[in-house]
Amino acid sequence: MLQSICQNPQLVETVLHTVDSLVIVLDQDGIVRAMNAAAVAFTHYDPEEVVGRYHWSDFVPVNEQDKVESLFKNLLKKRTVQNVEHHWITKEGRPLLLKWHNAVITDAHDKINYVIATGVNITDQALLEEELRISRKVVETGDPVLITDANLRIIRINEAFSRVTGYSEADVLGKTPRILSSGVHDQAFYAHMWQSLSTNGNWAGEITNRHKSGHHFTEYMRIAALHDNDGQVTHYVSSFIDISAAKANEQKLRFLARFDSQTGIANRDYFTQKLRQSIQTHQHNRQKGLLFYLRLGFLEKMEAHYGNAFVDTVILKVLHDLEHTLSGYQYFLGRVTGSGFGICVQNVPRTAGLKTATHLALEMVELTKHYPLAIDEEEERFNLYPEIGICTFPGANDASLLDAEALIHHALVASQKSRDKQECYEFYSNALQRAVDESHQLEVALNHAIQKLDEFELHHQPQFDAQGRVTGGEALIRWKHNGILVPPGLFIPLAEKTDDIITINRWVFKQAVAQLHTLDKSGLLKQYPSLSINFSPKCIMAADLVTFLQNELEQTPWIAQRIKLEVTESSFIHDIDAFKQRLAEIKALGFKVSIDDFGTGYSSLSYLTELEFDEIKIDKSFVSKLSKQCERPCRVIKSIISIAKALNVNVVAEGVETPVQLEALKALECAHFQGFLFSKPLPFPALIGLLTDNQRSAAPIGTA
Ligand code: C2E
Ligand code: MG
Ligand code: MG
Repeated sequence: MLQSICQNPQLVETVLHTVDSLVIVLDQDGIVRAMNAAAVAFTHYDPEEVVGRYHWSDFVPVNEQDKVESLFKNLLKKRTVQNVEHHWITKEGRPLLLKWHNAVITDAHDKINYVIATGVNITDQALLEEELRISRKVVETGDPVLITDANLRIIRINEAFSRVTGYSEADVLGKTPRILSSGVHDQAFYAHMWQSLSTNGNWAGEITNRHKSGHHFTEYMRIAALHDNDGQVTHYVSSFIDISAAKANEQKLRFLARFDSQTGIANRDYFTQKLRQSIQTHQHNRQKGLLFYLRLGFLEKMEAHYGNAFVDTVILKVLHDLEHTLSGYQYFLGRVTGSGFGICVQNVPRTAGLKTATHLALEMVELTKHYPLAIDEEEERFNLYPEIGICTFPGANDASLLDAEALIHHALVASQKSRDKQECYEFYSNALQRAVDESHQLEVALNHAIQKLDEFELHHQPQFDAQGRVTGGEALIRWKHNGILVPPGLFIPLAEKTDDIITINRWVFKQAVAQLHTLDKSGLLKQYPSLSINFSPKCIMAADLVTFLQNELEQTPWIAQRIKLEVTESSFIHDIDAFKQRLAEIKALGFKVSIDDFGTGYSSLSYLTELEFDEIKIDKSFVSKLSKQCERPCRVIKSIISIAKALNVNVVAEGVETPVQLEALKALECAHFQGFLFSKPLPFPALIGLLTDNQRSAAPIGTA
């Protein structure tokens, strides 16, 4: 049957022109002799443009020509049917990839007449395969990918997907992405996602899914819907990146922005924010809020001694115990400063505000004053030096009690003040704030004055013997600030908080030496045999004091016999040995030492016997109580004088204001006096005047 068809050339031609495949007829030299309609349709050549030309050199891409020519020759040699793939170039120059089926046609003598090449266009298929290969590669190596069909059945995942979700292909194929659902998102979330997919063809956003092992993880996911030519969804491709780590970091940052990383309690900002809310609530609910600022003074010292880690543990332990103390109250805590904590107790009945605040403050003091800590496995009790400032809010007449920052500030101020109190706590009050403000302003002004040292003056209060003769004097500093004399009782304690007191002390010393020089030059030094200079504890114990004094002596050696260093008992009660050593050094330089304000501190007689000093100054508080009726101060002064006698040291009574006091002191055999009865502290020119008058008249003063 086939043979009879083949012997009918017309029929053959018709068949060739109706098949979909390209058919090209070549002669044995490879020259094109004919091509069918499909070949014309694919290559866009007219047959006359092709017929008579070489198959491989004219229509095959250059890089494939050698291969095609050798295949052709091989076919001629072997005469077997050949299946090969190579490109053919269309009239427009576009390469078509064709799968060729080549066969030879021989005549009756077995001579090759023609080669029939039948080609199937596989260009699109190849492109598709290439694309598929590439996308497969992308899918394999890229981010996690999940592909579902239109019915949301998973048809493909990649390795990254398995790595991130824990699910293998076997776990998920055929299932829906719901297996990843964490339950975190509500219906509205998914409704929005589907809405976006159906209108825009894609969706992107954060989604929390569940790992196979159960834990949640957050991804940034993109889903794209794939459509066919009719616009019907065929697939959904979703790819995502795991952002759990980034999320955790974000959460950590958010945490750090609000909480103290060391203790986990609110930081100052967040505490203030919560306090702000609490104030608002209390304005409406007619209850009281209590704000405590608890500073533990000892923490800083502990840090220097035992290190950070130890202090961190102590803080955590204290906070834990504090929470126990506060159980039963509505409260929140915050780290307000390095060593201080804010505690806000809320919703306290209005009438019980003060009582509750006092009760809680006492509990906190009790907790932290004898705090048990294990050091080197031995438990000891430490005083953590609590300083507690308390504010209650809201306040009816004080707007600052409605402002969170101001409240915290008030509590801090009150805690600073509590330092001076035995109870270790202090309530904020307006008067307290005023005092603090003033003291702060004074501190700033003093700072300026100390830098310039041009607002200070040195006054002298002469001392007298029983006959009214000047025996010496005390140098007393004066600070003229904005034309007003600021009493030393106000600014000396401020300067004593820092090393400013040393600067002041050295200025006084140098000034005193300069004035002694002046007196010397005026011939008045004989009238003023000694000058006492006050030395605060810091000044007397300063490491370079001896060097300082030595330098001064080098310039004016005789001042050592003229100057007395006045010290108070507070200089030696902490470290008597160090003080003894210092005293010996000072005495070795030739200076005398006087004990000021005797009787107001510890007045320990045993100390006195241990120390080598030259003079005791009876404090004016005893002298002022001397009267004919009052026996007790009289007895105290009598015993001080007898001790002085026993120790063979001089006695000066300070603050002698009345003749009655003077007579009483004389009766007790006190030999030297300083007080307003004789003279107020005088500016230096007035002292010169007094000494000059004395020199001239030699008339006793104050004994009339
Ligand atoms: P102080 O060393 O005990 O000085 C005696 C104080 O008593 C002086 O007060 C003096 O003016 C005052 N006074 C003297 N006689 C009487 C009197 O009859 N009645 C009364 N009511 N007071 C009398 P001032 O000058 O105000 O000094 C107070 C304190 O300031 C001094 O007490 C001393 O502790 C300190 N101070 C003064 N100047 C210096 C200084 O240069 N350095 C240091 N470190 N402290 C100084
Ligand atoms: Mg003094
Ligand atoms: Mg004194």
